[in-house]
Formats: sequence, structure tokens, C-alpha cells
Amino acid sequence: MFNPKRVVFEEAALDYEKGKILLSKFKDKNLDIRYSKSGRVTGIPGKTPSDMYLEGKNTLVVGVRKSLKFQTCKPSAHYQLPLVSGCMGMCEYCYLNTQMGKKPYIKIYANTLEILNKAEEYAKERLPETTIFEGAATSDPIPVEPYSNSLKDTIEYFGKKDNMKFRFVTKFTNIDNLLNLNHNNKTTIRFSINTEKIIQEFEHRTPQIMDRLNAAYKVADAGYKVGFIIAPVFIYDNWKNEYTDLLLTIKNLFRNKEIKFEVISHRFTKRAKQNILDIFPSTLLPMEEEERKFKYGQFGYGKYIYKDQDLNDMKDFFKNNIIKYFGEESINYII
Ligand code: SF4
Repeated sequence: MFNPKRVVFEEAALDYEKGKILLSKFKDKNLDIRYSKSGRVTGIPGKTPSDMYLEGKNTLVVGVRKSLKFQTCKPSAHYQLPLVSGCMGMCEYCYLNTQMGKKPYIKIYANTLEILNKAEEYAKERLPETTIFEGAATSDPIPVEPYSNSLKDTIEYFGKKDNMKFRFVTKFTNIDNLLNLNHNNKTTIRFSINTEKIIQEFEHRTPQIMDRLNAAYKVADAGYKVGFIIAPVFIYDNWKNEYTDLLLTIKNLFRNKEIKFEVISHRFTKRAKQNILDIFPSTLLPMEEEERKFKYGQFGYGKYIYKDQDLNDMKDFFKNNIIKYFGEESINYII
């Protein structure tokens, strides 16, 4: 669970019930509480890129989502559902490192109901098709869930609607307030996992693998659809043995449960590499361009993916092993 060092309230957030509740919760905790009239977040300290990053990651903002124009979220969903932005985790390879600025604070939106009502409008435009919304496109919303209840509100809201489905992904384990909800099979919860070596080396301030798997087991037991995102997959000494152990641990724990897998190999952009080197100067992330293949991306910038032979080896390995232990229908995609 996220324990912020400072909390900034946009004044507009205090017009909402959620904003008021959060203010009284944090006042009880005797934290450094600040207010922002304009919504601009200033005063987060830090001189070096690493300090600014750390102080940002220790800051919580309670604000209002002003723009209710949702981004699309292909291919896993139709739209992003903006409930929270940012994440307390400090994974070195994180895709958010290039998106959240130099002081990447975590923000809870207090106007959850307005956001959900907007989602329903979007879904109505697509009737009779079902519309899928992704709740973790720019965040990991779980570490702030004990404060925000945003996922709880969303899961219950979607539980009452036809033609709308909700999904999110997390590495965290604060799922207890989601276990007894009327989710009505409308929500899928995916857990992002990796080998112990990768978690220790690169996924700072995130839970251990067994804690993630136990949290996944609890939500599966509560009747949610559950999936695992194995990402990013790295090729290193002993990678096959360690990823096999991971799959076997899941198989033993989730004996009779239906599980889906998404597998994503490691990739990086030049810009992400520079950012990572600024924040984590002694990173051990493998980012040698000459050992990768350059691939043009759909947004105009290219990324470095594994070379064909390595990538095919990795794809075959996961395909064969997931089919062997979980069946063909368990694979969503491997890229
Ligand atoms: S947990 Fe996910 S969102 Fe958070 S820092 Fe790690 S990769 Fe990024």
C-alpha cells in the first residue's frame, strides 16, 4: 500500500465527496498536506533526476479529471478508463518513465462517478457491441485503492451494466476491498509477474512474486476472471529454467482455475534508455542497441526489440510451455 510523504489537494477535488473523505483520512495521519488552487503541482523537492523521481513517487495528488475525452487503448481494450495516474512502484524499465515528467506523482481523481458516467456514454455509442475499458493504462491503481476505492466503485458500476467490461493490471496486492463485490463477471484482473531475479533487480518497491500469486489466487477465488502478464521477458543465463519454474508454480497453485496469459518481450526506445540512465545511472537493464533489432513503431518512434532468432526462441518457449501446462486456449498473445 502506498504511504505518501506528502499529499496535494486540488481545491476543486474538495467539492467531491471522495475528495472530502480523502482529506479527513490524510489529516488523521498527520502528513504534509498542501493545497493547489490552480491544479498545478509545485514544491516537490529534488535536485538530481534520481531525487526528483523519488520525491515524485512519494507524492500523492488528489485532483479532478477535467478532460472526459478518453484515449483509445488498442489492442487490449477499446478505451482507457482514467481513475488514477502514476504508480508508487519504481520499476527501472517502466513505460511510465517517459510519460509522467521528472517528478512522477500519483494522482487519484475524485470525480469517479463523472468518469464512469462518461464511460457509459462511450459504451452507448458502440451498442450493440460490448465496450471494454482498461483501468491501468497510465497507472497501477491498486496501491492507492485502500484510500480511493476507485476500483471498488468501478467494479460495482460495471457489474450493473450490460455491454460494458472492465479490466486492469497490477503488480500489487491490496485487493481485499475487491473480494466481496458484485462484479457480475464484468471485470478481469491481471497480475504482472516475472522471475525472482528480474523482480529483485529491476522492480523496486513492488511485492514479491509469491505475494502477487497469492493475491491473484484470492481474486480468482472471488470469481473474477484472472490473467497473468509475464512482462517484460528478458533473455539471460538460465532464463528458460526460471520462467519454467514460474509457470510450474502457477500451475500448482491454480489447479482448477482458468487462467489467461499475455507475454511481452523486453523492448526499449532511445528516449526511454536515456531517461532510465538519468534516473538509475547504475542500471543493469540490458539496453545495448547492437544486440537488438530496430523496429519502427506506430507512433513515429522506433524501438529496440530482441533479434529474430532470440524472439522466435522466446515465443516458442512460452507457447510450448503454456500449452503444455495450461492448454492452448490459455494464450492471449506472445509478442
Ligand atoms: S508497477 Fe507497473 S506501473 Fe508501476 S512502476 Fe512498475 S511497471 Fe511501472
